[in-house]
Amino acid sequence: MKYRELGKTGLKVSEIGLGCEGFNGKDAAFTQEMFKLALAAGVNCMDLYSPNPDMHKNIAAALGSRRKDFIYQAHLCTEWKDGQYKAVRDIASVKAAFETMLKNLNTDYIDIGMIHYVDSPELWRTIESGGVLDYALELKAKGKIKHIGVSSHNPLAVLEAVKSGKVEVLMFSVNPCYDLLPGTDDVEKLWAEESYKKPLLNLDPKRAELYETCQRLGVGITVMKAFGGGDLLSEYSPAGKALTAVQCLHYALTRPAVAAVMSGARTMEELKASLDYEKASEAEKDYAEVFASFPKISWEGHCMYCGHCAPCHKGIDVANVTKFLNLAKAQGEVPETVREHYAALEAHAGDCIACGACAKRCPFAVDPVANMKEAKEVFGY
Ligand code: SF4
Ligand code: SF4
Repeated sequence: MKYRELGKTGLKVSEIGLGCEGFNGKDAAFTQEMFKLALAAGVNCMDLYSPNPDMHKNIAAALGSRRKDFIYQAHLCTEWKDGQYKAVRDIASVKAAFETMLKNLNTDYIDIGMIHYVDSPELWRTIESGGVLDYALELKAKGKIKHIGVSSHNPLAVLEAVKSGKVEVLMFSVNPCYDLLPGTDDVEKLWAEESYKKPLLNLDPKRAELYETCQRLGVGITVMKAFGGGDLLSEYSPAGKALTAVQCLHYALTRPAVAAVMSGARTMEELKASLDYEKASEAEKDYAEVFASFPKISWEGHCMYCGHCAPCHKGIDVANVTKFLNLAKAQGEVPETVREHYAALEAHAGDCIACGACAKRCPFAVDPVANMKEAKEVFGY
């Protein structure tokens, strides 16, 4: 298992984490088996959006004394009522639900206190002014949550939250289909057939801005819906073609600022399919050719950071150089962290001899030679 820094939190998360929907309504024995498999593979983090008390108790029992080495990303603003989960915003319910969650998880702290489902800018403002953010800050000051996060599907809602400087982690829906669509507070539009009827072109600029802003400000992203609820893996995928689980995971894990994908496996087989990412070859991870052949989507001219143009004879990591270039361009200057990451690369844009081999291998008609030239100007070498 590979581990990644989660923004500036100081936490190192396994790049494959667990989602919790597969544990809802399952018994203790199933939970034990899933955890045995996940822990043996090195998984060290889990998202807990659901406040299901039985699920929490089963998870606490499955983890036992390993709790201290495991990262809970658990949600504020969800409560369990009448046998189902419900989003709540009134501060009394939020407080009561948090205390119940600690009890059921048999713990006295949560690693990432995730403010749940902030899908509109108005809702973020209510969170900021209506007591929820103050409560999260109070919990952090008391050590009951270690870091504050926000979960969302809408870049327009969370750009403001991320820029506020109060949010350290963002849980966001990241996959190659949702990434095409403009931000909306109607989450249903992300998977509605209607949204994918007209030809679609490249990444939505606000989503690209969100990922780049997170990278720049050191806000770590944990990913939900990497498989679009399973749609992307089927022949009925909105892209018009099925992707593999490994390709979806690799796409999410190559976006700026992404540290982990919380895989919502419902069965042992689904969990194994996600864990297989760690053993996958570069060819199995490569999503470039299948993306380039999507009948409904064009990515032309936009670097996907896919790495399909490798290898470079001069050892340049074209995908990462281009990513750092775009981060610097979005900011209008070179942020210190980007400069450090660039410096750590084995070869730099200035090493490019413009042989054009990478350009021939790019399926998205990007001009990597021009990008290397620009990167040399921006970084100076
Ligand atoms: S230049 Fe093309 S092949 Fe290389 S990382 Fe970008 S999109 Fe992928
Ligand atoms: S054009 Fe530059 S970056 Fe591309 S393969 Fe040749 S030397 Fe490497």
